[in-house]
Amino acid sequence: MAKTYWVETYGCQMNVSDSELMEGVLAADGYSQVSTPEEADVILINTCAIREHAERRVLGRVAELNRVKKRRPETLIGVCGCMAQRLGTQLIQQAQHVDMVIGPDAYRSLPQLIDQASRSAAAVVDVDLNPAENYEGLELRRKSRVSAWIPIQRGCNYRCTFCIVPHTRGNEKNRDPRTILREIGRLAQEEGITEFILLGQTVNSYRYGDCDFPGLLQAVARLPGVRRVRYTSPHPNDLTRELVEVMANEPAICPQMHLPVQSGSDEVLKRMARRYTREGYLAKVAMLRELIPNIALSTDIIVGFPGEADADFEQTLDLVSTVRYDDAFTFRYSPREGTPSTRMRDELLVPDHVAQDRLERLITLVRKIAAEKNLSEVGRTTEVLIEKRARRGMLLQGRTDTNKVVLIPGPEEWIGRYVTAVLTGTSGATFTGFPVGS
Ligand code: SF4
Repeated sequence: MAKTYWVETYGCQMNVSDSELMEGVLAADGYSQVSTPEEADVILINTCAIREHAERRVLGRVAELNRVKKRRPETLIGVCGCMAQRLGTQLIQQAQHVDMVIGPDAYRSLPQLIDQASRSAAAVVDVDLNPAENYEGLELRRKSRVSAWIPIQRGCNYRCTFCIVPHTRGNEKNRDPRTILREIGRLAQEEGITEFILLGQTVNSYRYGDCDFPGLLQAVARLPGVRRVRYTSPHPNDLTRELVEVMANEPAICPQMHLPVQSGSDEVLKRMARRYTREGYLAKVAMLRELIPNIALSTDIIVGFPGEADADFEQTLDLVSTVRYDDAFTFRYSPREGTPSTRMRDELLVPDHVAQDRLERLITLVRKIAAEKNLSEVGRTTEVLIEKRARRGMLLQGRTDTNKVVLIPGPEEWIGRYVTAVLTGTSGATFTGFPVGS
């Protein structure tokens, strides 16, 4: 009998990629995807543990999905990913109708775990971290025919004091460069995909034998059929001149980088154990702009970290004004049980209303700078890779090499093509454009 699945994904790009991996494992075992959870034999929810809010959302969603089980008791519900790893059996106590709790290193065994759960009254839990599992040799079930995310690294060797990732995904594990290059070469040659985004928690710390990240990046950029290469997220400590020179010299590597800073204050950076200083970070930004003058930069910033005084926050605002990011993802500090920052003294905690006020001030500044930068680009002619039909109107949505979203009129056949367009306007965050050639 045909077996069916439904996968929902929360959180970061690594999770989106892991869901493609889970779907690949299920498809190889004869499962097919259905268009609603109500039709599925197996429902998998791929979760994020980075913020408390994200976990609450997942628990709410799992409770909602229980109505499917009430109507169709044979349906199995599995919670996968970082929240599953963090909570393990505790998750079953919080959501009793969950049949499987599956950590990020157990996806290869999905068919066996599902089989076990279907024959057992008790929930099946597999949250063992496996230092050897990097999912080599498995086919992902890719959603996009335009861009491919290529996981090259899992886990993280840093220990930032606010971050749950090393606890949920373990230490860094890197894939063999030969299989990465074979995979990208095949996708470019056989499936006509031209844009590749190398993915890892601290992607530029990648090393496998003699192959380091600059070497891998250069080899990817030179593969036939590869037209755009990006990577995310680099750690500032591993950003070397050699890497930036490769970026500057290889035409296929996009002039764009998401370089998380987290705070502009040395005191806070120290308490976060980020292992760089404000000055060191700014020196890396200066190096990037020296070698790639048109580079677009984005970042992640946390406000309200324990001990962040007004003066520390002012340092963050000052850093944002100095760097003038094209975009920034801004967050209020969210304590995660099991991370060192939760053990900091109570008197260091920043009151909620103070953290919220700082967040709002930061967002206002980030938006103002982004809007000014984008406005200065209106009138420029640029190449846009068309990704999909836009949500509104009869427009197509694409991206510039600097990763800016552009909406342009055009036929659906342009999806996957590079179109030369003039940027005609901006909403502050995204652009409208008009095609002048393809
Ligand atoms: S570098 Fe720090 S923030 Fe990033 S995944 Fe590793 S521990 Fe977390």
